[in-house]
Amino acid sequence: MKHLDVLAQNIATGDRRALARAITLIESARADHQQEAQALLQSLSQHKNEALRIGLSGTPGVGKSTFIEAFGMMLAEQELKIAVLAVDPSSTRSGGSILGDKTRMDRLSRAPRAFIRPSPSRAHLGGVARRTRAVVALCEAAGFDIILIETVGVGQSETMVAEMSDIFALLLAPAGGDELQGVKRGIMESADLILVNKADGELKPAAIRTVADYAGALRLLRKRGQDPDGFPKAQPVSALHEDGLAQVWDDIQTLAKWRKEQGHWHKTRARQAVHWFEEEVRTGLLARLKDDPEISAKMQELALKVQDAALTPDTAAKTLLKALR
Ligand code: GDP
Repeated sequence: MKHLDVLAQNIATGDRRALARAITLIESARADHQQEAQALLQSLSQHKNEALRIGLSGTPGVGKSTFIEAFGMMLAEQELKIAVLAVDPSSTRSGGSILGDKTRMDRLSRAPRAFIRPSPSRAHLGGVARRTRAVVALCEAAGFDIILIETVGVGQSETMVAEMSDIFALLLAPAGGDELQGVKRGIMESADLILVNKADGELKPAAIRTVADYAGALRLLRKRGQDPDGFPKAQPVSALHEDGLAQVWDDIQTLAKWRKEQGHWHKTRARQAVHWFEEEVRTGLLARLKDDPEISAKMQELALKVQDAALTPDTAAKTLLKALR
């Protein structure tokens, strides 16, 4: 497909319009567009450019857009090209998006070295994951140095973003009391950096205390040999006053360099690729089963029995799987 070769070439030269056109192709529900998108991604996978993928999660109001704007502007001033993508679980339900809205990052959206793309609306989470991975690949081919993937700290979206990032950061607010803000253990384990934001003015003492609490928790979770000394790390920042951001960038670079030298970097990416392969197989298999009228009917029948507690979920699943053979 010749027009796809041209598109791929234009993307590789950093042409923004070509990038936007490719993203539109990827987000299209049309089967022929999907096929073209797959072909495009396959051909772009030959490009060797490797961006640094940073995942960033935090609850609404914690300061994500303020942070990303300040952090992104700082990197742009260092002549680095940054793409900001959003994974927004709320858009899968309401169709409205609270992330990736350009008005939230006004300065950055006008910076020539930055590219901001909101979460697609009305897609299911699996669709959002697939689309986000595709856009990451496009942005890498387009020569971005840093790809920041933003998400809100709810449900599975965090885990999903962690599985497509090289470095994962959690943005937290200073805690009022001494509780660890209900951060799930799983996500603490994926965090390379815990950034306690709003460490300024009246909130500063609480932010420092919160950092100490998390530093303690991280020490317990630390997996020996997988991180250099001092990581995972908790530290205070003020996105509003642009305090501590240079330190964050320093830490990210230190960690990235260490992981590359130790061989962890590519091992992690390879493991992630296999994870997404299996995930696609899982989703694809389930979709195929549901497409088959006979199996689909059987599934519904079993689901009703599970619902009425007549069968346990495990027994029902085994019954279905047996019927497949
Ligand atoms: P998001 O929903 O996570 O994107 O949060 P926003 O970036 O929109 O920030 C929510 C509110 O917190 C806004 O009123 C910001 O001005 C404020 N905010 C963000 N960062 C800081 C900070 O470092 N210090 C203080 N004091 N306020 C902040």
